[in-house]
Amino acid sequence: MYNSSVIGGSVSISGNRLFIYEVKGLGSIAGSIAPVRQSGSTFVTVPYQRMAEETRRIMRMGGEIVSIRPANGDMPTVPVAQVAPAAKKPMAETKAKAKKPGANVPINIYKPKTPYLGECLSNEALVADGGIGLVQHIKFDLSEGDLAYVEGQSIGIIPEGTDENGKPHKLRLYSIASTRHGDDVDDKTVSLCVRQLTYNHPESGETINGVCSTYLCNLEPGTKVKITGPVGKEMLLPDDPDAKVIMMGTGTGIAPFRAYLWRMFKDKEREANPDYTFNGFAWLFFGVPKTPNILYKEELEEMQAQYPDNFRLTYAISREQQNSEGGRMYIQHRIAEYADELWSLIQEEKTHVYICGLRGMEGGIDEALTAAAAKTGTDWTDYRKGMKKAHRWHVETY
Ligand SMILES: Cc1cc2nc3c(=O)[nH]c(=O)nc-3n(C[C@H](O)[C@H](O)[C@H](O)COP(=O)(O)OP(=O)(O)OC[C@H]3O[C@@H](n4cnc5c(N)ncnc54)[C@H](O)[C@@H]3O)c2cc1C
Repeated sequence: MYNSSVIGGSVSISGNRLFIYEVKGLGSIAGSIAPVRQSGSTFVTVPYQRMAEETRRIMRMGGEIVSIRPANGDMPTVPVAQVAPAAKKPMAETKAKAKKPGANVPINIYKPKTPYLGECLSNEALVADGGIGLVQHIKFDLSEGDLAYVEGQSIGIIPEGTDENGKPHKLRLYSIASTRHGDDVDDKTVSLCVRQLTYNHPESGETINGVCSTYLCNLEPGTKVKITGPVGKEMLLPDDPDAKVIMMGTGTGIAPFRAYLWRMFKDKEREANPDYTFNGFAWLFFGVPKTPNILYKEELEEMQAQYPDNFRLTYAISREQQNSEGGRMYIQHRIAEYADELWSLIQEEKTHVYICGLRGMEGGIDEALTAAAAKTGTDWTDYRKGMKKAHRWHVETY
């Protein structure tokens, strides 16, 4: 193995994430860089916060960055296919403040004090044999009211019963998993994808079941349920049928993506939406623990087979697949694996990125994209802020 050195002044190793750059074509670097050379390459360790700056500096000195990998070794090395001759920040177009989408989107038609009573029409298991946990696809009738919604919104559910203080339970939000037309494409239903929350009491160790998720997962068809909403404008799909839509989801984070993908690719949906014939590119990264936990697997794979040029499907199956370091394959490892390609897509104005699922999943994704953006001299954090302003970066984690 090689040694490496920290560049860019005094750095607390423990307080910073560090990345190792393999650089070719550097003679000797003046100043604070003290590289170690091995077979023509120079290895330098760069703190996360200084990646963009140091990339520009290396390139100014005529160096070519061949690969970047995190110094802690839990993500794969990312080869650099090409390094731009002059590092520029491709920010201008994405920084421009875009018009806020969703002006005409329905919001809060039913409030908690006057919820809609929707009958449960079906409640089906989504986890196949051998999978972990209970996840259900639940469909509700909307035909008795005015509840309308679009893809990417959520509804509230108020579970039956009272809390420990004897007060009615508060509502919980759930991402809508169906298109605006509903699973039967008749504008009369809404569907959810719900995982039963279970955890052990921190002191007694007793198994605790989440109130609302348990209520929903065990619903008998025919039961009427208090529904509020819809809410949410964060996860709306662009109207542009040529958009590029990158989706990164874990577990029930698939719910809004199911709605998008059904709208894009299901035959009956395409018939129902003559103004939206999707001809862009959709790429779903889906993280699950085991193959039987791949929710909606058959339909996803069918759509992929039917539209191979428009839909790409990449799984990260943590307990079955290994990352390049031999550890479990989580979604951030897949993002790191394709980071250069993703970064190149992300720089196109038509590209939107959506993240949905487990809270905390953004960190690993940011790390992978930081490394890819740094190779072209771009500070990812700045760039992501620009995307957010341009309504191209969408996150809903819980
Ligand atoms: C915008 C949005 C969209 C969502 N979409 C979905 C969706 O599509 N599908 C879905 O299944 N869920 C979704 N959720 C989550 C959902 O709203 C509920 O939070 C979830 O179902 C749990 O609710 P519950 O009533 O079952 O649990 P509760 O009975 O409310 O229990 C949750 C509480 O238990 C405690 N707790 C939880 N885990 C632990 C632990 N490990 N140790 C100790 N204490 C713990 C915490 O205090 C936590 O607040 C979404 C949330 C948001 C905000």
